[in-house]
Amino acid sequence: MESILNADEIADGIKALADSIRSKTTGQEIALVGIRSRGDEVAERILTLLAEDDDRDLAFGVLDISLYRDDFEHLHENPKLQESDIPFPVEGAHIILVDDVLFTGRTIRAALDSLSDYGRPGKVELAVLIDRGHREMPIQPDYVGITLDTDRLDHVLVSLEGADGKDEVRIVKK
Ligand code: 5GP
Ligand code: MG
Repeated sequence: MESILNADEIADGIKALADSIRSKTTGQEIALVGIRSRGDEVAERILTLLAEDDDRDLAFGVLDISLYRDDFEHLHENPKLQESDIPFPVEGAHIILVDDVLFTGRTIRAALDSLSDYGRPGKVELAVLIDRGHREMPIQPDYVGITLDTDRLDHVLVSLEGADGKDEVRIVKK
């Protein structure tokens, strides 16, 4: 199984996300909400980059959408339920959802459902580190770090420094 993205390429992908979010939202109050698991780590790393040259308030939250997925048995990751943590007012907020991989789009649909339990955001956008294609819902990202050409049955193994000890992406062919 070959490694298709190394640590530098992943860092570049996260930097590309931070750069495009910065240029599209200059001066605006935004909140990044990472989707467990690994979307939260991507969101934190984007925030760190944004905070380096930005003194606006950047809010941060985490969503766990395991309970909202419409196809539980199809979950790609360990569906252990952890808590969501949204410590800012969602009502009227400009929220950027952040995930590691965008595939069918079902997780994002569920995340939008889950967010609405907290209030009515003014605007919601989507940032993903990796867009691997094969959407099953009319959901597209506003910000993409890396686009990967995959087969429907492939599994994209994402390791990130914080969660897994190193940054690496591999593709498992089925
Ligand atoms: P979707 O709901 O768009 O099908 O899948 C997106 C969610 O499932 C993301 O939270 C992502 O972490 C996870 N996911 C989907 N496909 C893959 C994949 O091939 N590899 C990894 N690492 N996660 C995936
Ligand atoms: Mg994930």
